[in-house]
Amino acid sequence: MHYDVVIIGAGAAGLMCAATAGYRGRRVLVLDHARKAGQKILMSGGGRCNFTNLNSTPSQFLSANPRFCISALKRYPPQAFLELVERHGIAYEEKAPGQLFCQGRAREIVDMLLTECDWAGVEIRMKTSVETAEQKADHYLVATDHDRFTTESLVIATGGLSIPTMGATPFGYRIAEHFGLPVLPTRAGLVPFTLHPDLKSRLTPLAGISVPVTVSCRGMRFAEPMLFTHRGLSGPAMLQISSFWQPGDPLIIDLLPGHDLAEELGERRRERPQGTLQQYLAEHLPKRLAQVLAEWHGKDSSLQEYGNADIERVAAAIQRWQVSPAGTEGYRTAEVTLGGVDTRALSSQTMEAREQPGLFFIGEVVDVTGHLGGHNFQWAWASGVAAGQAV
Ligand SMILES: Cc1cc2nc3c(=O)[nH]c(=O)nc-3n(C[C@H](O)[C@H](O)[C@H](O)COP(=O)(O)OP(=O)(O)OC[C@H]3O[C@@H](n4cnc5c(N)ncnc54)[C@H](O)[C@@H]3O)c2cc1C
Repeated sequence: MHYDVVIIGAGAAGLMCAATAGYRGRRVLVLDHARKAGQKILMSGGGRCNFTNLNSTPSQFLSANPRFCISALKRYPPQAFLELVERHGIAYEEKAPGQLFCQGRAREIVDMLLTECDWAGVEIRMKTSVETAEQKADHYLVATDHDRFTTESLVIATGGLSIPTMGATPFGYRIAEHFGLPVLPTRAGLVPFTLHPDLKSRLTPLAGISVPVTVSCRGMRFAEPMLFTHRGLSGPAMLQISSFWQPGDPLIIDLLPGHDLAEELGERRRERPQGTLQQYLAEHLPKRLAQVLAEWHGKDSSLQEYGNADIERVAAAIQRWQVSPAGTEGYRTAEVTLGGVDTRALSSQTMEAREQPGLFFIGEVVDVTGHLGGHNFQWAWASGVAAGQAV
């Protein structure tokens, strides 16, 4: 069976590419080994899919080649995807500045993409394992566990390694290597941290508490909520910084952003010398956290017993808290995979391999990874459209 375009991966990027190519009159086949298309879309954004970010710019993406994403993102901006969402009558809301989520379920985004594929005449075959992809004289031969297909354009949209239980595989990287394209080392991104046993047991009573913090590491800084969990530290602040963190790095966490705790405690000591550190902290932090911090860093006395050096020490411990994570939860819970197919081997206009005509890589399999907040889907849509216009 011959198709103009065979796309491997019926996820965000693959479906977007398929519809774009189908509308251009190309005969398109999408293959995927999973049971259902767009599984990661379904589980994204807590089931509401943070489908784009209106403030998405190339500076919110990590890549060994930071300029690579510029062209595709410029040609298919967040507004373009939003227009598609609106055309399909999907209700959405801006939960945080720029971050657009479905008001209903993420399912609506998958249904929208499947409808677009249907209208564009795309054929989708799920539960199909691709066994090999070879280049023949002027076409590619794709062998699956059911059939063999020939195609002029082969698009790899198999995503990253995160959440293997959802069908993630290293297939895309293996295909890249098979055709001689370099693949940069991969690691889990947007992922919670785990802690060493002593710190973990100390923080266990705080599981479930979320507080606004700023966190810094390797010159990056994020001001977002942090969540204490039974395994360690999570929440948007931790997920964001995890993409920059390297094993051994300490995180610097300010648990009272916007405060000058040393100054404020000095004032409180003057005004209410009988007051305690815990009382002061509880005015600004959840009670349980205030209690743990006071027991951990405070003295067993009222503020009048605190010298200036004590106040400085307490303020530093709370506003420049140094945490050295044991590691991350890894691909099991990561939202994305950093690294991947080296963009230097691809055209930034079309996503086609420079040295391998007819072979395209789109979405997360490519070494382009967004910050938290809808940027990763925006890359999937934009890179999918870029390839869909070229295949
Ligand atoms: C829990 C979670 C929540 C997320 N929330 C958000 C969010 O709210 N906003 C946001 O922007 N991003 C979010 N992301 C990231 C986003 O889901 C991904 O960046 C995006 O799905 C990548 O799109 P993709 O098409 O490249 O890959 P995917 O969507 O992962 O699709 C890849 C497809 O390829 C198929 N496949 C893999 N290997 C093979 C193979 N060997 N043969 C055949 N098929 C194969 C898979 O079954 C899958 O259908 C989230 C991720 C996770 C895990």
